[in-house]
Amino acid sequence: MLRVALILLVALTFTAQASSPSSPTVRSVLDQIQAAYGGESINSLQSLSLDERYKTFNYTQSYSPQEYDMKTFRALVDIDFAKQKKAFRWIRGDADDFSTQHQYFSGQFGYRIYHEKQAISERTTISFHNVDWRLSLLSDTYIVKMLLDNRDAASLTGERKIKGVPHYLLTFDLEGADSLSLLFDQKSGLLSQASRKDWQPDSEFSYHYSEYNKEKGITYAERTYAVRAGKPYLLNIKRDLTFNSVSEGAFGLPKHYGKLPDMLNFEDMQAKTLDTNLYQSGRYWGFSLFYDAGEYLIGIGGYRDLQKRYEAALNQIGKIKPLKYQIVTHHHADHLGGMQDAYQLGAVFVAHPSNRARIEEAIGVPIDDNRFLFVDSEINLAEGKVKIFDFPNPHAQHQLVTFFAEPSVLFTADTYFSREHTGSPKGYPELTELASKLQSFNLEPERYAAAHSARVLTKEDMAYSLTHMAPHSQCPPKWTICP
Ligand SMILES: [Zn+2]
Repeated sequence: MLRVALILLVALTFTAQASSPSSPTVRSVLDQIQAAYGGESINSLQSLSLDERYKTFNYTQSYSPQEYDMKTFRALVDIDFAKQKKAFRWIRGDADDFSTQHQYFSGQFGYRIYHEKQAISERTTISFHNVDWRLSLLSDTYIVKMLLDNRDAASLTGERKIKGVPHYLLTFDLEGADSLSLLFDQKSGLLSQASRKDWQPDSEFSYHYSEYNKEKGITYAERTYAVRAGKPYLLNIKRDLTFNSVSEGAFGLPKHYGKLPDMLNFEDMQAKTLDTNLYQSGRYWGFSLFYDAGEYLIGIGGYRDLQKRYEAALNQIGKIKPLKYQIVTHHHADHLGGMQDAYQLGAVFVAHPSNRARIEEAIGVPIDDNRFLFVDSEINLAEGKVKIFDFPNPHAQHQLVTFFAEPSVLFTADTYFSREHTGSPKGYPELTELASKLQSFNLEPERYAAAHSARVLTKEDMAYSLTHMAPHSQCPPKWTICP
């Protein structure tokens, strides 16, 4: 019996080997991919224009703490493969309200172009691979073209099944670019899935390609669904590809634009006394205020490294005082980055009740009721010297703003700040809403501090901002993708 089984096994193995071609090599797989994507047409492709309309799903910066947001985008990426040039034009929003962004990589240098300010800033962080915020990876054709142009950077690392369908797993390690894991259908040679690491630890971006089509002999997927850390991230709704007809006008820099003035950058942790009882500390994009209530401190500004800002403020005060309250401005992930620190420091969270779950999520454990002080609409602390009120606005459904009465300073997280050395910022509708909210409380702050800048604005700045509204976003000259 054993003998029969053995013979059968040998026969089966032999048949399997005989019917399949010799085992695949990276070269044979790349050849198959090239054939699937258009053979010589893709191989000799000089330039590509990718016009992408898509929706994103956002949780970390959503309007409501209970929901994902969906946002509309359109991007035009013009690519010259031979000269390694890439131009990126981006529309964020729709016809009612949109903003634009323009970046360019010349093959050597990266630039951000500010059309409203008619200014250009050179950026050493911009490369061919990231000038478009990696949106090229939405296109399977782009990835395949890069792969065929850089065959040496590819290795065949295994096989994997997607819903039972066998795929080749290729690793694509191109210098200066993200390492990509690529899954190609063994039968069709088409790219089904790509993935790369996220900057967030333990998180990954996966791109799922489908609905393949052909244009001018070159294959492309019409649909890309992107997932971040397993959650819906992006879905394209329309893709237009143009081959070998990108004009030189797509690239380059506007001639008469000037240089963008230097911005404040706050590289080092700094702490200063804003007034007798009010201290400001922080670096980069995260700043806090600490109010000295005598026996304890009240903190606001929840970026990560809260502990370091607290220590810097204590240094300034010259005494150790506990952080009794941490005011949580709103539920956006960046502003919850310091909540773990506040929790360890023993602080009570002063928060809108709808943000409780997000705060617990940021800390990673359920928090006792007695660690919360909820603010439905307004609350006063420190014998009325600190007033906290809810300021619902388009940025976040609930946002706590704090007024420190004795030094007369208002703190907003994201509403009113400037990172320019001088000059008052232009206003916008939310600021008018904030002004009338302050009026309803009879509050007239002398100064305005915020989470995103060490610069403290004045009531004169505010008066200017309220009477000088920023113009609506305009379509930059010669752009074809504006809504
Ligand atoms: Zn925010």
